Amino acid sequence: MKFICIGRNYVEHAKELGNEVPEEPVIFMKPKSALLQTNMPFYYPAFTNELHYECEVVLHISKNGKYISEATAQQYYDAISVGIDFTARDVQSELKKKGLPWEKAKAWDNSAVLGKWNNISADLDRKNIVFSMKKNGEIVQSGNTRDMIHSFDQIIAHVSNYFSLNIGDVIFTGTPKGVGECSVGDELEGFLGDESMFKIKVQ
Ligand code: MG
Repeated sequence: MKFICIGRNYVEHAKELGNEVPEEPVIFMKPKSALLQTNMPFYYPAFTNELHYECEVVLHISKNGKYISEATAQQYYDAISVGIDFTARDVQSELKKKGLPWEKAKAWDNSAVLGKWNNISADLDRKNIVFSMKKNGEIVQSGNTRDMIHSFDQIIAHVSNYFSLNIGDVIFTGTPKGVGECSVGDELEGFLGDESMFKIKVQ
């Protein structure tokens, strides 16, 4: 499996990092080794002094495909959750300055946190999904998928022009505004609506 991640998919978040709002989805990937296994501890990486959380809606790919149309994209994912696209922001800033790839800032071991999966029901309004994350019990990010620049179906159609989607792949659909730092001892809890989907502690 692989993680396909979308960057700058919420206008307010693009602005908070001083980035342009992109016309087509910004894509990067994380390897399978980026997955933080359920119930395993998350350790603050030694190579960063500016670890940022990015809480995002994530999609579970349930069908293999390539060159998927927007109209049929819904057939290719069956479950939804929230997760964290952990980012070493200081490392990323250096890489961006030099025009280098982002893997050292984004794709390291355990940089992808996934919540439990909820099956997608036929009546789910994909363009009105509320999600949020608490740090130490206080909400630090809250989003609604209606504010996404590129919808789930547009993302899947676009991504599949470049990369085959395979069963078990996960798509991170971008973070809303409110990204920020976390430190050792912080507890992060992600929610889909009011439902707690993951809870981790930075160690
Ligand atoms: Mg992200």
